[in-house]
Amino acid sequence: MTLAIPHVRPVSGGLPGPIPPVVGARLTVPLVDGRRVPYANLDHAASAPCLAAVRDAVDELLPWYASVHRGAGLASQVSTKVYERAREVVRRFVGARRTDAVVFTRNTTDALNLLARALPRTGGTGTSVVRFDTDHHAALLPWRGPLVRHISSVGSLDRALQDCPTGPRLVVVTGASNVTGELWPVADVAAIARHHGARIVLDAAQLAPHRPVDVRALDVDYVVLSGHKLYAPFGAGALVGRADWLRAADPYLAGGGATSLVADRDSRLAVSWSTGPERHEAGTPNVVGAHALAVACETLGRHWDAIIAHERALLTRLRAGLAGVPGLRELSLLGGDRVGVVSFAVDGQDPGLLAAALSAEHGIGVRDGAFCAHIATRRLLASAGATGTRALRASLGLGSTAEHVDRLVGALRSLVTHGPAADYEQVDGRWTPAPDPRPLPPLLAAL
Ligand code: PLP
Repeated sequence: MTLAIPHVRPVSGGLPGPIPPVVGARLTVPLVDGRRVPYANLDHAASAPCLAAVRDAVDELLPWYASVHRGAGLASQVSTKVYERAREVVRRFVGARRTDAVVFTRNTTDALNLLARALPRTGGTGTSVVRFDTDHHAALLPWRGPLVRHISSVGSLDRALQDCPTGPRLVVVTGASNVTGELWPVADVAAIARHHGARIVLDAAQLAPHRPVDVRALDVDYVVLSGHKLYAPFGAGALVGRADWLRAADPYLAGGGATSLVADRDSRLAVSWSTGPERHEAGTPNVVGAHALAVACETLGRHWDAIIAHERALLTRLRAGLAGVPGLRELSLLGGDRVGVVSFAVDGQDPGLLAAALSAEHGIGVRDGAFCAHIATRRLLASAGATGTRALRASLGLGSTAEHVDRLVGALRSLVTHGPAADYEQVDGRWTPAPDPRPLPPLLAAL
């Protein structure tokens, strides 16, 4: 069986095997009525749980943990090798070119801000940027100035690029929407961008945890992603792509590790900045995070068939179940294929109160709000005929089970029909049970 996935690399044949396990799969949480239940984590799109393989790999590295690129000791050299190997693993994971730079960042936001700072400013006009106004704020906000324009649909891209002045151009496109999970036609966007000589950056924060990404097949120039969404929550993300703009740009941070030589010449500093990825990685690198990210990439890369099959089955179950909840309106931006993310509003219901009751009365974790994509969420709510500016989001991943999905659907039905069983009040803008008898775990006991 070959799963043909639009705009991403086809998945190899064979029956899907088991999915890789995650840490916390047996976590139980207290409810307001005094019971304890297994935690139903339906918030993978915000941050995914740690893969067991990642936790084990981090454990294995920690005795060897030492400073990267700096020490003469063996542990330091091992850490340095681990860090540099991680670049190659991430490069392979996204199908990047041999000549592409792999820069470790904190997350996707950091990676996009780095790219925004590295856009060529030479040649008079600077770089024109076209981005979609429905993007996550991380993809929407880093670009500033008169050469930035935003568009609402792929249909407007050709025109927007035609209107750009001569000079470098960049199109920002999201792989999978964090609001609806829907897949953007990245290859089509890239083809239009290429026609106008523009480069393309792919925000793969939501796509990469769910589908293989291949920058060469998609014909994009840069890809950004976050370790914490890829089951590697150790503070690393990455920017991968064409090295020339990055090599020519001012270092993202100034400091140790980003220079090849610093000298004092006539009481003035003479600095030679590195020309490799370390140019933008000043300070002590996050070797644990980079290793964790690399191990997550390798682990996902070995299990795509199983991961995709698992998520597809749960997504179908979830959407079918939600469709039966009275007054529930699912949000949709593009239609078509999507990863395991579903956002919705329920007529007459406060999403924040529903989310609080799902947690306190049913042990279910979902997200409510506008998902750092305010324009998209508002527009989608309006087009779904819902009132208000906030929604609920359930997102699936390796920690999700059919029982979690069924519990969510059953809990929503009950909350919508009968209302919450407990009392709630708003504290700092968030609904919380009043009183809230749930004990915190021992790790917070001292607070
Ligand atoms: N892009 C998308 C599509 C996202 O969903 C997110 C986070 O939710 C980001 C970018 C930002 O990721 P991070 O918070 O890891 O920087």
